[in-house]
Amino acid sequence: MVLELFRYYGSRGLRIARASMQYVWDTNGTRYLDAHTGHGVAFLGHNNPRIVSRLRRQLNELTICSPSFECSVQQEAVEKLSRVAPPGADTVLFANSGAEAVETALKIAWAYTGRRKVVAFKGSFHGRTLGALSVTWSPSYRKGFPVLEDVEFIPYNAEPYVVEKAVDENTAAIIVEPVLGEGGVVLAEKGFLEAVKKVARENGAVLIVDEVQTGFGRTGRTWCLEHYGIRPDIVTAGKALGGGFPVSAVFTRRELAESLRGGRHGSTYAGNPLALAAVSAAVDVLLEEGVAVRAAEAGKALLDALVDRVGGNRLVRDIRGKGLMIGVELRKQPLPVLKCMQDRFHVLALRAGITVVRLLPPYSIGLGDVEAIVGAIRGCLEG
Ligand SMILES: *Cc1c(COP(=O)(O)O)cnc(C)c1O
Repeated sequence: MVLELFRYYGSRGLRIARASMQYVWDTNGTRYLDAHTGHGVAFLGHNNPRIVSRLRRQLNELTICSPSFECSVQQEAVEKLSRVAPPGADTVLFANSGAEAVETALKIAWAYTGRRKVVAFKGSFHGRTLGALSVTWSPSYRKGFPVLEDVEFIPYNAEPYVVEKAVDENTAAIIVEPVLGEGGVVLAEKGFLEAVKKVARENGAVLIVDEVQTGFGRTGRTWCLEHYGIRPDIVTAGKALGGGFPVSAVFTRRELAESLRGGRHGSTYAGNPLALAAVSAAVDVLLEEGVAVRAAEAGKALLDALVDRVGGNRLVRDIRGKGLMIGVELRKQPLPVLKCMQDRFHVLALRAGITVVRLLPPYSIGLGDVEAIVGAIRGCLEG
């Protein structure tokens, strides 16, 4: 029998042959500017040469080292990550995907507190495995699956008293994104995350900040939570973390992580040598290329140009973002706009929420690329 590839998502109708930094080429040799980046994964650029060369070295040296053994790349990656870890974290656990990092974070919170309930936010996205799905808002993603019942969703950017009302002595964790990614590029308002942190602390609940999309320089700081000065108990990272290699991480404190000892969690591929070599090189790129600062600058240039040149369009409801995570909220479905951007202007972007064109370009975009993105959106809104 000839197998057919099952696609989780509809095809965008583009056959990608190769890529380099912010560009991809189709099989005809046409170049596209990539502000989709595989849902934000290629933030450090496609095939970033430093990451490729570190991976190549690892391929020749060692690719399998079970979590039961030790190898030098583990130490290398952990030392490198120490330089960029979120404030307050002294321990890192590895996993293979964003959803698995979220699962690990939730298991830590349940095991550490001995409680069951989790408070999450409307509009949130945390992944599609059962635990992560249980704290993900979208009813269409959840429908038909036995998601956990001890989860309460409250509005994102809720007033402090709403958070206070939802959290009590049975709450194991509050999980929150510092910017709703899938949910429509909605920024945390001033005071919101600080209030969530305060309520978590007062009730002995673990605060999990999910930085799978926002983390690793994307929003103009290494971690988006730095914009807010909060110190969560757990931070999850993924997407950009491996520069394209599938890997995720959970940053926490030792006393919390200890609760998973004795075989209470594990994963065959977690922290494998290739993944850790990728992380190690990704940290080098992050620090030595000044990635966060460049994301802040390019993000400001892009946001300003968008506000200036498409902000007045009658189809545009709002333009917002942090660093290189930008949303253009429309008064209509974004899919025809995304298709036009791809077909007519050779610019790739993606949807967020119901009506938002989301832009997640690599840190390396220049002014010409900013111009191309703005020109594409402008051209496609004018029809
Ligand atoms: C993408 C994403 C996830 C899930 O990551 P996967 O690697 O697809 O499992 C979790 N949380 C956030 C905030 C995300 O954007």
